Amino acid sequence: MKIGVDLGGHTLTAALISRDGQKPRIEKIDKSDTPRSRSVKEIMEAIASAAERLREGHKIAAFGVAVPGMLNADRRRALRMPNFPVEWDDLDIVDAIETALVSRGIHAPVGIENDANCYALGEGSAGEAVGISDFVTFTMGTGIGCGIVTRGRLLTGAHGMAGEGGHVVVRGGVPCGCGGKGHSETLAAADGTSARALAKGLPEDFEKLWEMRGDPAADEVLDVTIDAMARTIATVCHLLDPEIVIIGGGMSRAEGIGDALKSVSAEYLSRPFKKLLDIRISRIGSEAALYGAASVERTA
Ligand SMILES: [Zn+2]
Repeated sequence: MKIGVDLGGHTLTAALISRDGQKPRIEKIDKSDTPRSRSVKEIMEAIASAAERLREGHKIAAFGVAVPGMLNADRRRALRMPNFPVEWDDLDIVDAIETALVSRGIHAPVGIENDANCYALGEGSAGEAVGISDFVTFTMGTGIGCGIVTRGRLLTGAHGMAGEGGHVVVRGGVPCGCGGKGHSETLAAADGTSARALAKGLPEDFEKLWEMRGDPAADEVLDVTIDAMARTIATVCHLLDPEIVIIGGGMSRAEGIGDALKSVSAEYLSRPFKKLLDIRISRIGSEAALYGAASVERTA
């Protein structure tokens, strides 16, 4: 048995995962509110309590946590946890989790990985990319998460930061929360889309807005969203030549969004890439991060 944890800003989700032959399977899920303070002490307590509730006497072979931040190359510390107190920034997160688990009598090797990367790993072990060695995942929600697997391995780069597909430069100079500008996320994510919709007196909820397609004002907003995401997909395809591109996150539930992204992305692609473009909507959704977290191996 393994345990995978998805540490979100508002919800902490943990899953007990077994292996049934080749495929991992979620046996049990534990959801709790992320402690309001988001302090290291309270979050470590919450992670250890969730582990204790899930384990029920099972021996835990591995414990992985999907972390909302950019990690350093050795996968022990976060370079930056944007929505968490600064005390996280120089913390040995692996060590802190292990200590919290040991205090509850749980002895397991702990690994951490960026949450968008966990999402990609999960699609690879239990989702659309089972058996596929080259693929890219995007989660379209509040921001745009991205994870890249090439030749069966997660792409992490020289400093641990590779795969930031939500920060591909698409156009214009809208400042991005990351400190750059003109990034995909500023136009394609739900936050940017809602802001443009509200300015036109349209619903800020993405699914409601999507249902209004055909209305010229709604189309004007949605075309910008789809165009920015399509430019991102085309850029990533040209750079990495993935076999499939997987779209997840809350916005992916809008009916027909996969087809819309496919037709606009194809316009930007060079001829050999056009006919190979394969965009799929995630079926396992947010469970991907849990499967992925459980598959993270401790690296140092
Ligand atoms: Zn950015």
